[in-house]
Amino acid sequence: MKSAQVNAANCQEIYSGLVRIHILYHACEGPIFGLGMIEELRRHGYRLSAGTLYPLLHALEMKGYLRSREVRSGRSIRRVYRATSAGRKALALVKEKVKELVGELLEDDASRRASRPEASRSRAWGHVGTS
Ligand SMILES: [Zn+2]
Repeated sequence: MKSAQVNAANCQEIYSGLVRIHILYHACEGPIFGLGMIEELRRHGYRLSAGTLYPLLHALEMKGYLRSREVRSGRSIRRVYRATSAGRKALALVKEKVKELVGELLEDDASRRASRPEASRSRAWGHVGTS
């Protein structure tokens, strides 16, 4: 097996869930379109090509989280996406999961910084409370 050279550019697979959540979040806030979303994601350090983003938007629409329509913008026609009520519901559920995950990630960071490795080890796999 090849040992992975991990960097921001090749973590795509792990980022993909975060990117979907990000898209869903912005589609709940207001209408989004492909290029604008690519720029927004770039601002957050995700470099997605149109060839990656458009299928993602399409898949989210097929699953019922987004709804799109074509809007004329000058001479061009742009596809604009909004979250559906299912999309909003999904975002609310995801938010809880993200909160939980962030709590765990940051808690681990904090205990590592306090250099008490045994503190995080004793919480391993469902043995919470056996201290
Ligand atoms: Zn954003």
